[in-house]
Amino acid sequence: MKNLKIKTVIDLTQGQWIPFCITVIVLTTAIFIRYLLMAGLFYYLFNIRYAAKFAPNRIDTRVSKKGQIKSEILYALIASLLFGILGTWILHAWQLGKTAIYNEVSHYHWSWMIGSVLVLLVLHETYYYWLHRWMHLPSVYRRFHRAHHESLVTTAWTSFSFHPIESLLQALPIVLMIYFIPMHLISLVVFLIIMTVTSVINHLNSEIYPAGTHRHWFGRWWIGATHHALHHSQFKYNFGLYFTFWDHWMCTESPDFNTLFEEKSKHDH
Ligand SMILES: [Zn+2]
Ligand SMILES: [Zn+2]
Repeated sequence: MKNLKIKTVIDLTQGQWIPFCITVIVLTTAIFIRYLLMAGLFYYLFNIRYAAKFAPNRIDTRVSKKGQIKSEILYALIASLLFGILGTWILHAWQLGKTAIYNEVSHYHWSWMIGSVLVLLVLHETYYYWLHRWMHLPSVYRRFHRAHHESLVTTAWTSFSFHPIESLLQALPIVLMIYFIPMHLISLVVFLIIMTVTSVINHLNSEIYPAGTHRHWFGRWWIGATHHALHHSQFKYNFGLYFTFWDHWMCTESPDFNTLFEEKSKHDH
């Protein structure tokens, strides 16, 4: 991987500001459009097109605050810019061969392509769970986690709505993992897709996983909309991001979760 120099449209290795700024603008736009498309699609399907059909699956039945979506989109735009800047930095490091990203499948055993995605998810989960617990300390909460909790009744638009400091803290482990954990580019892209899709699903406020998922050997460890909706309504439970294991081990899973999940997932479509 040393001396790996990837040819891309813009060469950032010369340290010039104009290509750097152009890349920031391109990446920010791409990240923001990804958010608009994903959140927009899920919002359209679950809150407009099939709203009546999914009404029994609606978890928190209160209405969202007036102007909530507007402020969520604004926070997401700032988060996109921050991720765009960090993405450009990563691209620069990648072109200089300084990251752990490899592009030959044969460089490691093929099973590492899948294994590395799992490792990234588990490490991200562990970091986020403890970051999240820390962000709920009253003084920290007031400063930069309240922005996300302004959305009491969430929608898909809440999925990327974070205070800028929280956005940076969320991005930090991803940057570190890209530097230190060998991963194929496809594995990194799969991880980023899982991160985006699960965040949208978890903020849907409609349970879309089938009945019994919470008892399934894998499903019981996997977070969905009911699990995260309880975090937004109860604050002191369900701090996980993808998996429930830290909430299980630390006894921070909401006692209402199983009953609520059973109630909201029994309606087939
Ligand atoms: Zn929280
Ligand atoms: Zn949330």
